[in-house]
Amino acid sequence: MGTFSRAAFLAVGSELLRTPRLDTNSLFVASQLAACGVEMTEKRCIGDDTQAIANAVSELLSRADLVVVSGGLGPTADDVTREGVAAALGRKLHLDEELLARLQERYRRLGRSMPSIAARMAFLVEGAEVLPNPRGTAPGQWLEVGARAVVLLPGVPEELQTIFALHVLPRIGGKPILVRTLKVAGRFESEVEQRVSHLYHRFGREKVTILAGRGTVELVLYAETSSELEAMEHAFTEVLGEDIFGRDDVTLPQVVLDALKSRGWMLATAESCTGGMVGSALTQVPGASEAYLGGVVAYANAVKVRVLGVSEELLATKGAVSREVAEAMALGACALGAQCGLAITGIAGPTGGTAEKPVGTVHVAVATPSQLQHRHFRFGGSRQTVRELAANFALDLLRRVLGGKA
Ligand code: AMP
Ligand code: MG
Repeated sequence: MGTFSRAAFLAVGSELLRTPRLDTNSLFVASQLAACGVEMTEKRCIGDDTQAIANAVSELLSRADLVVVSGGLGPTADDVTREGVAAALGRKLHLDEELLARLQERYRRLGRSMPSIAARMAFLVEGAEVLPNPRGTAPGQWLEVGARAVVLLPGVPEELQTIFALHVLPRIGGKPILVRTLKVAGRFESEVEQRVSHLYHRFGREKVTILAGRGTVELVLYAETSSELEAMEHAFTEVLGEDIFGRDDVTLPQVVLDALKSRGWMLATAESCTGGMVGSALTQVPGASEAYLGGVVAYANAVKVRVLGVSEELLATKGAVSREVAEAMALGACALGAQCGLAITGIAGPTGGTAEKPVGTVHVAVATPSQLQHRHFRFGGSRQTVRELAANFALDLLRRVLGGKA
């Protein structure tokens, strides 16, 4: 194990070059390395080609002391990362019997017989240490090359991230840096930035990264000691207060579901312009069924009337995108058998706007046994941006009504 200072990343996968699929693994790896004081100085993306992989690994290894390779470790014929890396290092590939037995065991547990081609995943580059993959079949490989190292990881982000956390981080003897992410919802990046900018000066601009999402903002704090991190977190929390919904890996739907569970309430949703995005986000959380009843995609007025009981007169007089209809939809959602109803109705665009109700106009309502809350937004951006903003700001309104904080 060495101490690394310069890392390079190689994304292997022809799909990354000729389809809209993006290499996101390098972003994850770069942020993880940065947190241990290892700088990623370059990254490259190449197709599933043995010679191209071999050339890229040789070049990157001449400039970086840690080369992270992602992808091409699967069982199919196009997965040639093992061959390419072996060629770059002038090493052989050999079948690891123990790994083969483990792979066979894994297939047996899944009730499937192992296809003979899967045995390719049991091949190791000479001198490799196996990095077990608890989330999939292809293991990672750690290779020392003098004082340098090459690490091979599967391309599936979930698998790469797990192996990285379990087996790569402990092997990187970098300067440990403490990281805390504060998660903000219901505010725009510029607003958050303005409110905390004096803290950048106090703690150092390089100690804080602000990352904008659609309707959420993350503040990543870096510190050298736990007391420094605590002081930073305290100062940011003091300024942002209730706008912070959680820290680190917590998500907005999780916080909302927890707040509902702690009250023993069920939630039902009525979504128009978001077409089920809130329901989708909520059901991504395991155990959502304890607090989420379900919802209605009430896109056409007919569904708002027939399923949610919104009055035709209200729709005719106020319009589908109005405070009154949002509130009626939230009450209609409750009538499905929930204590809490969340409704969204808006104009996502690009057409359908008027002078009075321009594209980006969104009404959100939350109904609980004791209150009916409403908010009106005017978002900018593309159709998808408006929809994502609407879904997240709606979840955040619900969180604030429930008093939810992680
Ligand atoms: P592989 O390990 O090459 O078989 O990759 C399996 C899957 O992981 C691919 O189909 C992609 O969807 C995904 N993947 C591969 N490389 C990356 C990457 N650099 N970033 C994000 N996803 C990736
Ligand atoms: Mg691939």
